[in-house]
Amino acid sequence: MAIGILALQGAFAEHETMLDRLGAAWFEIRQKRDLEKPLDGLILPGGESTVMGKLLRDLDLFETLQEKIRAGLPVYGTCAGLILLADQVEGGIPCFATMDLTAKRNAYGRQLGSFHTVAQMEGVGEIPMTFIRAPYIAAVGPKAQVLAEVDGHIVAARQGNQLVTAFHPELDEDTSVHQYFLDMTK
Ligand code: GLN
Repeated sequence: MAIGILALQGAFAEHETMLDRLGAAWFEIRQKRDLEKPLDGLILPGGESTVMGKLLRDLDLFETLQEKIRAGLPVYGTCAGLILLADQVEGGIPCFATMDLTAKRNAYGRQLGSFHTVAQMEGVGEIPMTFIRAPYIAAVGPKAQVLAEVDGHIVAARQGNQLVTAFHPELDEDTSVHQYFLDMTK
């Protein structure tokens, strides 16, 4: 079993550390031939969704990954990764557009750009949540399920094989969200 971590830009190394701590095998996806390896799950990290979206197309990774996600590949998007999966993006352009939800980019504005809290996530429990110039989910369609809310805003959701969090569990000690994702790959 191996998880591919999109490693074009952003906070991918922190996801690698998390998977190491959980004893899960992973490899980096940097170019098209990386997609020839067996892939049991995919992590889309935080970073800049606009830059990642452009690189995905420039490196010819976009279509293959979109097909795999549509075919049921388990995928976990954090922060910018959430934006890449949303089928509607306020303040940005949809990328994979495989999830029935509206992401609002840079949703917390400048003042609250980055913050930390503890809140409940369904199926996971009470966990630390670190937000960095985060989006939130402005709306979910009928196919997606809300897993967590903070201050009345949706910050985690699932749609079958797809999981997204507006926050960055890879920046905290708690491994339970990554364990939840690994369970989705079994
Ligand atoms: N604001 C970034 C974007 O729109 C996301 C920030 C993050 O991933 N920490 O892509």
